[in-house]
Amino acid sequence: MYFIGNHLSSSKGYAAMGRAAIKLGGNTFAFFTRNPRGGKAKEIDPADVEKFLKEAEENKLGKLVAHAPYTMNLCAAKEDIRNYSREMLADDMKRMEYTPGNYYNFHPGSHVGQGVEAGIDMIADALNSVLTKDQTTTVLLETMAGKGSEVGRTFEEIRAIIDKVELNEKLGVCLDTCHIWDGGYDIVNNLDGVLEEFDKVIGLDRLKAVHFNDSMNECGAHKDRHEKIGKGKIGLEAMKRVALHPVLMGKPFILETPNDDAGYAEEIALFKSWMEE
Ligand code: FE
Ligand code: FE
Ligand code: ZN
Repeated sequence: MYFIGNHLSSSKGYAAMGRAAIKLGGNTFAFFTRNPRGGKAKEIDPADVEKFLKEAEENKLGKLVAHAPYTMNLCAAKEDIRNYSREMLADDMKRMEYTPGNYYNFHPGSHVGQGVEAGIDMIADALNSVLTKDQTTTVLLETMAGKGSEVGRTFEEIRAIIDKVELNEKLGVCLDTCHIWDGGYDIVNNLDGVLEEFDKVIGLDRLKAVHFNDSMNECGAHKDRHEKIGKGKIGLEAMKRVALHPVLMGKPFILETPNDDAGYAEEIALFKSWMEE
């Protein structure tokens, strides 16, 4: 079994997203829980969710990989931004329970000059104040490219956050192929070695989802510019090896490539062709 999908607009609700995913050939999808630039989230319509859950089951959709807004920064230098980010996270956790048992992915944060360690402490602090033992959502820390002062560029930083969170059974990791490549992990020449490193530092049992993106830049560039599958510096053959790697197969793969619907449908079809070879 494999799961592939892309990032969809949540403006028309859950049932519309489920249908859009299926129309593109996918069986999972990602979406922003609210405007990616932040702000108040749209009210959830229970009837819409109910319709979605029924259709998701009928069509055997895999786990969803919701994405926190980009404005969320749990380790911002300004206290008001940290507080606002924490409130958004808490509110998103409540919203996620309408669709129980799925994934919620977030960018650990940018420490903006406070230092990685201070950043890690603040992120863990926020998670400790928000996570509850009754929640069914698994919160995923996304591996980052290391642009600016981003925390989460190395597996060690991710591990350090997890170690400081009490309810860390609620935590997992989302591996973004463009980000780790830009972050300096050479998945073109040493995919096995990178995954072994992940296992050694974090543990593969934490690896829950993949953001499946090619990159416009060289390994270690710390840039974070996504490219279409096979059109970037990672390239088609290496992307295919990622898709078919036994350690990753069966996880939800989410495309965040610069595409229109036709482009996503093509990449989804390509991914499926690899799976069915
Ligand atoms: Fe992301
Ligand atoms: Fe990503
Ligand atoms: Zn990115």
